[in-house]
Amino acid sequence: MNIDYNTNLYCLIGNPINKSLSPKIHNYIFKEKNINSVYLCFNIDEKNLASTLNNFKVLGVKGFNVTIPHKVKIMKYLDDIDEEARYLESVNTVKNIKGRFIGYNTDGLGFIKSLKDRNIELRNKNVLVLGAGGASSAISTKLALEGVNKIIILNRTLDKAKKIATNIYEKFNDIKVEYNNLDKAYKYPYIDMLINCTSIGMYPNIDRIPVDISVFNKKIIVYDVVYKPNKTKLLDASEKRGFKIINGIDMLVNQGLLSQKIWFNYEGNESYNKLNGIKNFINRV
Ligand code: NAP
Repeated sequence: MNIDYNTNLYCLIGNPINKSLSPKIHNYIFKEKNINSVYLCFNIDEKNLASTLNNFKVLGVKGFNVTIPHKVKIMKYLDDIDEEARYLESVNTVKNIKGRFIGYNTDGLGFIKSLKDRNIELRNKNVLVLGAGGASSAISTKLALEGVNKIIILNRTLDKAKKIATNIYEKFNDIKVEYNNLDKAYKYPYIDMLINCTSIGMYPNIDRIPVDISVFNKKIIVYDVVYKPNKTKLLDASEKRGFKIINGIDMLVNQGLLSQKIWFNYEGNESYNKLNGIKNFINRV
């Protein structure tokens, strides 16, 4: 990498970010595409969000990703928010357009693409979503757009589950939606798919599992958006019960490619088509 006067800075802000694969993904793409840019990680506390954005503007940061726990809170500090991110009520990608920070969401589309790539049909399915943070908000709303039958959102903080459920209820009157406490999974044994959007099981707390999966009475699909470790305790236990499991790597790579598409104005599927090799690269890291 030849860092010089013209090198542009892209980055990730979150807390914790020490196990993030985003620098690997974006620096790999910069190298592949011969782009004079570098991608770094910054561990930022919530109290410093506003000042961080001001400092990024002064430094001329071209774009950045936002991760746990800032995807919702960042929205109030941005100059504008694109329609999809506004709809999903979560921002994970920010682009500097002529000194203004514009927020986007690529998590929702990245998640849906990972299911479509596996030919998984969502229409008329009953889906249990664990968590009510930024990932849950984007994924739950995307599930509604895909025409699932019912979405149940469980969260430790009930008010946050209620907020997402209410948003979906108001936007999609033909979709059944329910919310409950995280320990109430046993009330929904009939689900077709379970999606973990909490950070439970994420490194370093890898011995934790968000819900008891023995309550589900058929062969469900279990999707854990957590990608570190590669196979969380939830996925390991699910696999042992014969459930189909999906980890968060494909979603991560998809959302990263979509961020690049926004930052560099790629048309159509160019970023996907040219960079499929990245998934192999990331799986080796
Ligand atoms: P977030 O907005 O901070 O939300 C975190 C969620 O986890 C909240 O629902 C929170 O519940 C819950 N939670 C955290 N610790 C908990 C605990 N000890 N017990 C019970 N619930 C707990 O974060 P996010 O951005 O949605 O991200 C959530 C997870 O998804 C992270 O692990 C992140 O790395 C992963 N993720 C992966 C991808 C990908 O591309 N694969 C994309 C996005 C996110 P409360 O509301 O009660 O605090």
